[in-house]
Amino acid sequence: MRDERYDHYPQLEIDLGKLQENLAALQERCQVSGIKLAGVVKGFTAIPEAAKVFDRTGLDSIGSSRLEQLKRLRLSGVKTPLMMIRVPMRSEADQLVQWADISLQSEISVLQATEEAAARAGVGHKVILMADLGDLREGFWDREELTSAALAVEREMPHLELLGVGTNLGCYGTIQATPEKMEELISIAETVEAAIGRRLEVISGGSSSSVRMVLDGTMPKRINHLRVGEALLLGRVWGCDMPFLHKDVFTLRAEVVEVKTKPSVPVGELSVDAFGRTRTFVDRGRRRRAVLAMGRVDYGECEDLIPREPGLIILGASSDHTLVDVQNTVRHIQVGDILEFDLCYATLVYLSHSESVQPVFRRDGQPQ
Ligand SMILES: *Cc1c(COP(=O)(O)O)cnc(C)c1O
Repeated sequence: MRDERYDHYPQLEIDLGKLQENLAALQERCQVSGIKLAGVVKGFTAIPEAAKVFDRTGLDSIGSSRLEQLKRLRLSGVKTPLMMIRVPMRSEADQLVQWADISLQSEISVLQATEEAAARAGVGHKVILMADLGDLREGFWDREELTSAALAVEREMPHLELLGVGTNLGCYGTIQATPEKMEELISIAETVEAAIGRRLEVISGGSSSSVRMVLDGTMPKRINHLRVGEALLLGRVWGCDMPFLHKDVFTLRAEVVEVKTKPSVPVGELSVDAFGRTRTFVDRGRRRRAVLAMGRVDYGECEDLIPREPGLIILGASSDHTLVDVQNTVRHIQVGDILEFDLCYATLVYLSHSESVQPVFRRDGQPQ
């Protein structure tokens, strides 16, 4: 029977079998080094069919930066502990303790609000205190402030459990995760341990950018937790290819709505494009070009799309149109043809958020 979902474009296909293999392969390599994995699902907006693959893998936890995604997962039956990985809003403390089992935290007033919310709800909630090691996004900068927050959680917040400390690197400040940064985090953990008089269960050494150290054997021993999204989804991160992971879990498909031969330089007086930017054009003569029915509202920046069609060149895009040069493609592209693209993290985030994009699923080559 024909499934009409498969006739809808733009289409984001997720190969659940390949995703599962990526999860199992990385989990195995981390286990060998004594590292537990939080699988991060924000990269694909926690689409439940794919998030359930995370649930079945037996990860330590599933993490997202959006509480509404964690709520949707819990309501769809996900059993794995849920971790809120964007430091929470004080105003969402009640929902936080309802939908997340664990949160990353960096403000004493938010910890206090979380304690009060947990007390009201009569539940427990685990927290990991974040240390900023130089990337300048979230986390305590002052080590004494972190230690005194840890002491406050330990002694004055009976509904909160201080699970450990963690850090985040390479998100704003482009700072690399290195063994030196990990040693710094361990020393912060040891300071906290000395203050509270017990060993911390978790030292969370970052995200996909920290996986490289697990693979090349340079990860310091006491780091026992990572929060990983991108590497699992795309099989690589900047500076580290992971040959044992699939790179094609995700496929974007778009339909060609016009094909014509036109000049490569616009004709008339130049001004600005649909987004108010000036542009320059190179004269390559008359070229065969195609218009695709998808645009920047779906995927962000067209330069981030990676065409699978040999010879295809991406020219530009407006909100709802993408323009490509098909003069030299092997296939003779025509109206109604479907073109495929590989994704990077940014395009994946936007596509999975777009209401116009239809997610479809595949396993062992078969539509699901
Ligand atoms: C997004 C995020 C992660 C996961 O990052 P990846 O690069 O996708 O592995 C981990 N921790 C925090 C705090 C995050 O915001």
